[in-house]
Amino acid sequence: MTVSRVKGLFAAKSKMTESNEFTSSALRDVISLGKKYAKSSCPNPNRDGCPSRSRLRAMAYRDRELTLRDLPLSHVVRCSPCFREYSHFRRRRLFVRGLQVTGATLGLAAIVFIGLLVCHHDLRCAEQTISAKLLPKRHGPVNSTDLAPPVAPLPLTVDLAVFSPSRGEGNEPAKKVHLPQKLLKVTLLLPLGLDAGEYEIRLENSVGTATLSKHAVGRVNSDDGVTALELEMDLAKATKGNFSLMIRPPGSAWRTYPVVVE
Ligand SMILES: [Zn+2]
Repeated sequence: MTVSRVKGLFAAKSKMTESNEFTSSALRDVISLGKKYAKSSCPNPNRDGCPSRSRLRAMAYRDRELTLRDLPLSHVVRCSPCFREYSHFRRRRLFVRGLQVTGATLGLAAIVFIGLLVCHHDLRCAEQTISAKLLPKRHGPVNSTDLAPPVAPLPLTVDLAVFSPSRGEGNEPAKKVHLPQKLLKVTLLLPLGLDAGEYEIRLENSVGTATLSKHAVGRVNSDDGVTALELEMDLAKATKGNFSLMIRPPGSAWRTYPVVVE
C-alpha cells in the first residue's frame, strides 16, 4: 500500500511536470512520505538497481540540470541504503546552505555596518566642514576685521568750489570739509579751471603723513561743465581730527583743502 501510494504520488507529480522541469515540491512530498518507512523497511542488501552516489548527491543538492524523470525518486523511497545516503547528502546540503545563508547574512550585516560607519564618518566630516566654514574663528583669536560684515561705501559729494584752497596765506579761518570716519565713495566736484584728466589726491595729517594717496580721472559733466572725480576713501581706520586734502594734476601745484575727519 505504502509503496504503491508513493508510486501514485510520484506518477501524479510526474504528470504535473510534463515539461520535465525540476519540481522541488514534488520531491519534498515524495521524500517526506518515504521517510516514514524507507529508512529501514527496505534493506536491499545487494543494492539492486541503486543509482550512483553522484546521482543521489545531485538529487540531494537539487541539481537544476536534472529533470524529475532523471531523479531516482521511486527507487530511493523503496531502498533504505539509498534513502539513508540521500538523507545524508541532503542534511549536508542544508547545513552548507545554512552556512552560506549565515555567511550571506553576516556579509550583508558587515556591509550595512561598514555602510553605517562610512555614512557616520561622512556626516561627521560634513558637519566639521560646515562648522569650519561657518565658524572659522570660533576657537581662534578674534580679529575685528574678520568678523566685520562687508560695508558698502557711503556715497558723499563734496563741492570743492565752495571751499577756498588754503595756500598758507591769509588769516581767515578756512572753511573745512567734513568727512565721516567711514568707508566713503566720494565725488569731488572740482572748482573751475580744473579740467578732465588724471589727478593725484592725497590726504595728509597735521605732520604731513599721507593717510591716503590715490589717482583718479576727472570727468566733465556735460550738463553743467563741472569736472568731477570719483574715488573711494577708506577713513574707517583714520584718526579723527584735522587733515589736508590735496589735489593736483600730475606735475602741477597742489591745491590744499582743510578737512576734518569726525
Ligand atoms: Zn538503492
